[in-house]
Amino acid sequence: MSSTPAGTADEIAQHGWTAVPVDANAILNGKPYIHKPTPIAQKDIPFPSDPVVVKVQEYAKEHLIEQTYNHSMRVYHWGYAILKDQFPDEFRRLSLSTWALTCLLHDIGTTHTNLRATLLSFEFYGGILALNLLSHDLKAPQAQAEAVAEAIIRHQDLGTVGTITFLGQLVQLATVYDNMGINPQIVDVVTRESVNERFPRKGWSGCFAKTIREENALKPWAHTTHLGEEDFPGGVENNELMKPYDRWGL
Ligand code: ZN
Repeated sequence: MSSTPAGTADEIAQHGWTAVPVDANAILNGKPYIHKPTPIAQKDIPFPSDPVVVKVQEYAKEHLIEQTYNHSMRVYHWGYAILKDQFPDEFRRLSLSTWALTCLLHDIGTTHTNLRATLLSFEFYGGILALNLLSHDLKAPQAQAEAVAEAIIRHQDLGTVGTITFLGQLVQLATVYDNMGINPQIVDVVTRESVNERFPRKGWSGCFAKTIREENALKPWAHTTHLGEEDFPGGVENNELMKPYDRWGL
């Protein structure tokens, strides 16, 4: 079995290190989906319960505002549905714990304190925080902790040139689906309603747009500007797909 700098072939697949195009359209071949998504209710989507995930879930609940925590949990569920239906081979191999850790921590850099604790862009700082938390405090395997950090750092690095880890692509697909309704048909409507019901948005569109503008005002160099200083928060505010659910929970 071949091995790479610090991971065996098993670890590469298990923690989503497989290289895939960063261009989601290339993966979807310009179509709405690869395989027609199947309806799955939120309660039928498993969530891992190993000690590291339990601790990180508590950490996320404690540090994130409710809207961001619910967004992070929705991202887990959208990603699960996308993984299961669109990428059956990866579905058999990817650790759901690694996926859950990525989702729970991907926006940890956006908290009021963390935005102001560093000059770094929020995804970069979040990736470093996640790496320290997982690897140093929780003693997670290196291949897992680094996979989560890499995916967090690149979760808003959308583009058309080059490659990204499979885990990074999955978090991109799931977050742009939740934030902007991109690839609206990649998740079945039954799943969409059920997950939004369990983890209500509570005005997430306005809430996240405000955070993006806040970061860009504090740090005009922020990586987020790569998605368009006005286009990105504007796209988040005008999320047509999620508009019917945006006020749920308020
Ligand atoms: Zn997010």
